[in-house]
Amino acid sequence: MVLDCKHVWDHISGYLDGGLDPELLREVQRHLDHCEICSAVLDSTRNILVLTADDRTFTLPVGFSERLHARLEKAFLEGLTTDA
Ligand SMILES: [Zn+2]
Repeated sequence: MVLDCKHVWDHISGYLDGGLDPELLREVQRHLDHCEICSAVLDSTRNILVLTADDRTFTLPVGFSERLHARLEKAFLEGLTTDA
């Protein structure tokens, strides 16, 4: 099984809260090891969660996933064209 970036983004919240299957977790981790885009996405997502999560709940803000994906889509396309 090979994950592309968009698959990884679908699983990032699960990755961060420990909700992934062990096999999927391994594949996501492997992708993150060599993908700068997804590593950056993981870092920024983790920061957002730290800011928004409290001790009692682990709930993403309404619309978070959609906004995140829109941002990622843009960052991904820009990354492909700027070769930064
Ligand atoms: Zn990636």
